[in-house]
Amino acid sequence: MTDYQTVEHDVLVIGAGGAGLRAAIEAAAQGVSVGLVCKSLLGKAHTVMAEGGMAAAMANVDDRDNWRVHFADTMRGGQYVNNWRMAELHAKEAPERVKELEAWGALFDRTPDGRILQRNFGGHRYPRLAHVGDRTGLELIRTLQDHGIHQGLDVHMECTVLTLLKDGDRAAGAFAYDRERGRFRLFKAKAVVVATGGIGRAYKITTNSWEGTGDGHSLAYHAGAALQDMEFVQFHPTGMIWPPSVRGILVTEAVRGEGGVLKNRDGRRFMFDNIPDLYKAQTADDPEEGWRYTQGDKDARRPPELLTRDHVARMIVREVREGRGSPHGGVFLDIAWVKQKIPKSEEHIKRKLPSMYHQFMQLAGVDITKEPMEIGPTTHYVMGGIRVDGDTQMSTVPGLFACGECAAGLHGANRLGGNSLSDLIVFGQRAGEHAARFAAQNGAAGIDEAQIQVAEREALLPFDSLTGEGPYQVQDSLQETMQDLVGIVRAQHEMEEALSRLETLKERARCVSVRGNREYNPGWHTALDLKNLLTVSEAITRSAIERKESRGGHFRDDYPDKDPAYAAFNLVVRKGADGEMQIAREQIPPMPDHLKAVIEEMK
Ligand SMILES: Cc1cc2nc3c(=O)[nH]c(=O)nc-3n(C[C@H](O)[C@H](O)[C@H](O)COP(=O)(O)OP(=O)(O)OC[C@H]3O[C@@H](n4cnc5c(N)ncnc54)[C@H](O)[C@@H]3O)c2cc1C
Repeated sequence: MTDYQTVEHDVLVIGAGGAGLRAAIEAAAQGVSVGLVCKSLLGKAHTVMAEGGMAAAMANVDDRDNWRVHFADTMRGGQYVNNWRMAELHAKEAPERVKELEAWGALFDRTPDGRILQRNFGGHRYPRLAHVGDRTGLELIRTLQDHGIHQGLDVHMECTVLTLLKDGDRAAGAFAYDRERGRFRLFKAKAVVVATGGIGRAYKITTNSWEGTGDGHSLAYHAGAALQDMEFVQFHPTGMIWPPSVRGILVTEAVRGEGGVLKNRDGRRFMFDNIPDLYKAQTADDPEEGWRYTQGDKDARRPPELLTRDHVARMIVREVREGRGSPHGGVFLDIAWVKQKIPKSEEHIKRKLPSMYHQFMQLAGVDITKEPMEIGPTTHYVMGGIRVDGDTQMSTVPGLFACGECAAGLHGANRLGGNSLSDLIVFGQRAGEHAARFAAQNGAAGIDEAQIQVAEREALLPFDSLTGEGPYQVQDSLQETMQDLVGIVRAQHEMEEALSRLETLKERARCVSVRGNREYNPGWHTALDLKNLLTVSEAITRSAIERKESRGGHFRDDYPDKDPAYAAFNLVVRKGADGEMQIAREQIPPMPDHLKAVIEEMK
């Protein structure tokens, strides 16, 4: 007989990052009871690490900005495989959502006349990122948390969801365990919102926190939901690379937004060497014009360092591969050079980029006001995720909603910096609203005991296994496989090799054993993460094999060009009746004429 505690809510939100918190606040505002579950402590979600800002066309710094430019920038950045409806809603609704945060107490940086200050970021035509120094995620989480606490949310911290439960086709709740005591908890709900963030921990070098193990993607997939465009993983161009202990930690794009430049071993600004046709008209002709852009000159165009992340990351890889890299296998990012332009540049850099200053000083012994940083690409974000309806955020499973990084669509093949935080608040709000509506319109769902017993048995398996192999060994092999074979530059034979290794890893994961008891057992937790990591890794690899072209975050050595035929569909994976992963091409619905006209106009 299974031993668990039962909790019941109208809406269950899994994940307390920006997306989950915003969804929970909205659902509660609709008058339904809301439970919010998170793996770590409230306030510790990955969102807290976000640095540079949230994109919203408020036109506070440049009055030429508006939703249409933001929409066109997002679609261009995503290389036109985005869910255009989501891109439209996001561009239109982000300013309102940001102002709402301000009304709830968020303390944004200010323009001289007292409005929310906005900064430049890659791929955005105008300064658009509302920010709080380089600690925007902290302020976002603090504000939502403070506001949410007063909405009567029931928060279940340090509680990890293991399985989504269903009543027939419909979502009906979740089975979880609490880390403190290792006890099981059954959540019954009329609607479930998944907001579990990213998948970065499937790779060895990543900016993601320990929570980024693709749980929501995997939970939804195993519950029958479709995942979309999983091949599109974003490798951020600038992560720390030295010393080894800090490898992968993010160096915010705000450094380049404030005038930081990329140089190779010979001191050459290599980003001027190759500017994609799609961006030629919007890119500075020379360093002087680029500098003027970063300082707010409306007649100047952006420096090539602020091209989209996929392109910048590939340019860095090219420099390294061709022998022009830095001593530890990256290139140099230099903000110290602004001393040639700005008096008291040291104070200026420390004020604009306080976290970066401390990060490099304390972790690498580098004073960024005086010397360049050594950086290289790092796994950062997944554009692919749970396939949702653009307006409601409902997945292909009735009653199961998804928002934030674990949902797909908005960003297409490549996300623009700053478009995630705004995604969280725009689609978190929508998911919360529609989940509450679904809960109000549908009665309580039933959950049969058999589902719960299967989930419990599976969770406890590692305690009974006698193989002796620990979960960390399997996790290491998995991360190495994905890093080496399905990384920033991909090829058919390597990805096929990855698939075959993943099959072996699945076997090993089924047999891992853990020692000790169930209270705060990190080995057990890691063992339970493996299924999620393996599911998302397989989805990424199968989709990457299927997309025989290069587009956005997906670059193939054997198909280095974009193929227009691949712009017509999304790649969708589902769990087949035989339990195996199936992949299909699904046509992208035609864009309405009024949005096509916006794209034409902004070309
Ligand atoms: C260093 C860094 C800087 C960034 N800077 C920016 C920026 O400036 N601008 C921008 O737009 N984007 C930025 N990003 C990206 C952005 O921060 C993320 O995409 C975003 O915060 C994801 O938010 P989320 O709400 O979807 O998920 P998260 O914030 O990742 O939250 C996920 C939540 O789900 C919970 N969870 C996960 N699995 C389970 C489970 N099985 N059971 C229960 N709970 C679970 C976690 O505990 C957590 O509460 C940055 C990312 C990094 C790493």
